[in-house]
Amino acid sequence: MSRRAAVIGAGFGGLALGIRLQSAGIETTILEARDKPGGRAYVWEDQGFTFDAGPTVITDPACLEELFALSGRRLADYATLAPVSPFYRLLWEDGVSFDYVNDQAELDRQIAALNPADVEGYRRFLTFSEAVYAEGYRRLGHVPFQKLTDMLAAGPELIRLQAWRSVYDKVAACVREDHLRQALSFHTLLVGGSPFAASSIYALIHALERDGGVWFPRGGTHALVRALAQLFQDLGGRLRLADPVRRIVAEGERVTGVVHADGAFEAFDAVASNADIVHTYGALLEGHPRGRRVARRLKRRRFSPSLFLVYFGLRREHPQLAHHTICFGPRYRGLIDEIYRGGALAEDFSLYLHAPSVDDPTVAPPGCSAYYALSPVPHLGVADIDWDAEGPRYRDRILDYLDARYIPGLRANLVTSRIFTPKDFERQLNAWQGSAFSLEPVLTQSAWFRTHNRDDVIGNLYFVGAGTHPGAGVPGVVGSAKATAGLMLKDLAS
Ligand SMILES: Cc1cc2nc3c(=O)[nH]c(=O)nc-3n(C[C@H](O)[C@H](O)[C@H](O)COP(=O)(O)OP(=O)(O)OC[C@H]3O[C@@H](n4cnc5c(N)ncnc54)[C@H](O)[C@@H]3O)c2cc1C
Repeated sequence: MSRRAAVIGAGFGGLALGIRLQSAGIETTILEARDKPGGRAYVWEDQGFTFDAGPTVITDPACLEELFALSGRRLADYATLAPVSPFYRLLWEDGVSFDYVNDQAELDRQIAALNPADVEGYRRFLTFSEAVYAEGYRRLGHVPFQKLTDMLAAGPELIRLQAWRSVYDKVAACVREDHLRQALSFHTLLVGGSPFAASSIYALIHALERDGGVWFPRGGTHALVRALAQLFQDLGGRLRLADPVRRIVAEGERVTGVVHADGAFEAFDAVASNADIVHTYGALLEGHPRGRRVARRLKRRRFSPSLFLVYFGLRREHPQLAHHTICFGPRYRGLIDEIYRGGALAEDFSLYLHAPSVDDPTVAPPGCSAYYALSPVPHLGVADIDWDAEGPRYRDRILDYLDARYIPGLRANLVTSRIFTPKDFERQLNAWQGSAFSLEPVLTQSAWFRTHNRDDVIGNLYFVGAGTHPGAGVPGVVGSAKATAGLMLKDLAS
């Protein structure tokens, strides 16, 4: 008899898991609360503008190709990925600009212009980044850490790579110039980690980008989401949108099924949650002692910060911009410390500016351009800001700043804008404390210390996505799907 599995949530992790299960012959249903798939990678469409809600920097396309290859298909038949160059433009308020490109000679030239001695230091950093990439991503990024012994087995290599040191520590040991230290360490923020606290293992992101490149799906990231959803359905998978799960039903140490919003029970042989881990244990499994106990424990852990986003469309183009720009504010460490530990919204900010129209005119009406600006901000447990009141003010500060520094005439040419605040992460995505990336990626919350891909007690309950190993980011959650699918397929076959 064929086995039936449910995946709660259609984020990148949930979709990748659904594809793996369905490709292996498990009858799979993905149940998504929102009206569109994608989770953090949702999309807003407004007056001809397409605003990708979340991920825009697509790395390691091979991990996505693999999902299509499972059934002999090709990603290229579902979506078009175009390379992005520079990977990022980094801009500082003192006028320094750095184009982070995948061209060694050009990188050397820019590094030498800031500090000649750091050319050799960068080489050492790259060698280190390649070593952690090989170990932390290529070898261990898609294998589950279910037992403490799995962690102990990885121990000697983690010690050799000095995983207890922070990314910033490691960068600072290699290069001396301050802008370069920021340029080589900010990446952890893209997966919710502070460069000053995230394990140096996360320095792997640099090598990951240099190895596989940075890509953008034509039509926006949501075109890639739709491609995955289409693949899942072409394989015979059932995708139910606007169908929030109210409860996971478990008796003793077995899950029997889920309860839909209308109160109907549906039986499954296995259930995997791609939803937030605190929501899953605390709300969906509230009726089970295991749910209440684990939720209590999880609430004591450190969650990554939240984000404030403003999406906006302009009635003119700005071809001078790069596709991805980091606009560093006046402070680096001070600002990051405030975001992670301070009790209020900082006076200053650093921004990531997404300007997809420079590469892809289809995301805006002719002659117009689409953007988002993202500012990392404390999660609701660190600073309980009234975002319904603060949001519009913060949006104005960000738009004025961009108008004054990087996008002249922004205000005069504004066609549309919308914001997404930590409160929206909480309300619309069930994200604990509005965290944008789930558990903070520090060593004591990584691998075996993260939520396990299979629950330790309820044997047919699984997890996939940012809260599990290896963690946030599109390649991370796609890797987690591989780890979880491996466990599920073995369990369902027995
Ligand atoms: C603004 C932003 C920018 C980012 N930029 C990048 C980037 O450029 N590159 C990159 O690699 N990563 C980026 N990330 C990180 C990356 O997007 C995420 O780590 C990743 O997409 C999370 O995927 P996930 O599988 O954990 O699921 P999520 O995207 O968290 O999706 C979970 C899904 O579960 C659903 N759900 C919740 N509760 C229920 C319920 N009860 N019933 C049914 N469904 C439910 C939610 O509606 C949601 O759709 C970014 C993140 C954000 C927020």
